[in-house]
Amino acid sequence: MSMNPALAVDRVQRLERLLEISRVLATTRDLPPLLKAVVDAATVLTDSEVSCIFLYDPEAQQLRLEFAPWLTPEATQAISVPLDHSIAGQVFRRKRPAVLQVRGQDSRPLQALGQQLGLPTRSVLAVPLIFRDKAIGVLKAMNKGGGSDYTGDDGSILETLSVLAATAIGNVRLVEDVQAAYHQLSSLDQAKSDFIAIASHEFRTPLGLILGHATFLREGAKPEVLEQLDVIIRNAERLKKIVEDLSRLNQLDQGTTELRLEVFSVQEFLDELVHGYESTATERYISLNDEVTPVGMLVEADREKIQIALSNLLDNALSFTGPGGHVLVGARQVPAATGERIGWVEFEVVDDGIGIAADKLQRIFDRFYQVGSHLRRRRGGLGLGLSVAKSMVERHKGRIWAESLVGKGSRFAFRVPERQRPSRGEGGAGAS
Ligand code: ADP
Repeated sequence: MSMNPALAVDRVQRLERLLEISRVLATTRDLPPLLKAVVDAATVLTDSEVSCIFLYDPEAQQLRLEFAPWLTPEATQAISVPLDHSIAGQVFRRKRPAVLQVRGQDSRPLQALGQQLGLPTRSVLAVPLIFRDKAIGVLKAMNKGGGSDYTGDDGSILETLSVLAATAIGNVRLVEDVQAAYHQLSSLDQAKSDFIAIASHEFRTPLGLILGHATFLREGAKPEVLEQLDVIIRNAERLKKIVEDLSRLNQLDQGTTELRLEVFSVQEFLDELVHGYESTATERYISLNDEVTPVGMLVEADREKIQIALSNLLDNALSFTGPGGHVLVGARQVPAATGERIGWVEFEVVDDGIGIAADKLQRIFDRFYQVGSHLRRRRGGLGLGLSVAKSMVERHKGRIWAESLVGKGSRFAFRVPERQRPSRGEGGAGAS
């Protein structure tokens, strides 16, 4: 069968157009311009007077007219067709194209369609839009040019276009779904953050009062109530720590935590910290020491955040080490490795307590993670201490890790740069 040369040129031109359109469709991210591009392409490629597109509305179980260039947006929105007794519905259901021409056929469906769409209709070529094996809509070309009939070529080119269009529409919708889910999550996240911020704020005042009064009462207390007061104080302090951990994590999540940098002596800092824990250690018959090399070492960091991180490690070491045990808090200078511009200060807390099993070691820095069930634990806490420490360290562009052997003890360590890099503009030659 020889092909008419004019027809061949026509085909090549159509294919070139199709290629061009496929590029447009693949890069359009919003639905309205995408639908317009599809409809324009359908009209040109099939040499029709107009085209329009219907998308399935699963809630209404109808096909909704989404774009018809001869109608206003309001008029377009008002039109939807049922799946039964309509050309579009039939194409959608069967997932097969359909052609209707005035000539030689029952013209009533065309008249009905024309009335519905507000446009005299002589001929219709309708193809389904199929995305991942599911029909999602229908693309219709109407009124073939020159009053002629739609050909097999028109059918196959419109089907090809429909494949491209359905993929593009399906992808845009997927992206929209993901975005919607993301917004929903962010607003939930915001609600959670607000709740934590408000709750921790509201907890702080009564807790402060309880602690203040109990401490005051303890001063002149008779020996028989001393123990009870200590229980109150201990538990209020525990609660305070939980509230503080929650609110700190929340602030870190929200990005509202700033680094307040200062240069300070590591030795003085550790002495002060360890001093604050001496009585706890003595009560538990644990020996507590600190060690800094070199002694005069300085660090530029947010002192309060480093203190929170180290306190959380120290709290844990003292809790998970039995009487007669040892806890050592240390700091040492680590020179910059090759390729690094700034050296590090490494802090560590070493204990010879109960240790942590290797398979749990990966998870202890996760939020709310505790080894063993919460109820069987011998001390309070929400499993936040280590994740707070981690956040504080990472905020300094440092890292934290743990080594441990069950029954032998644990070593928790973190490194922070010995100074934070100068920010852009103010830096010297080496600054990035
Ligand atoms: P919490 O504040 O509830 O103690 P953390 O995040 O501080 O939570 O610690 C998580 C878990 O890691 C603890 O429940 C504990 O089982 C384990 N852990 C932390 N530090 C030590 C340690 N020094 N020795 C043994 N286990 C530890």
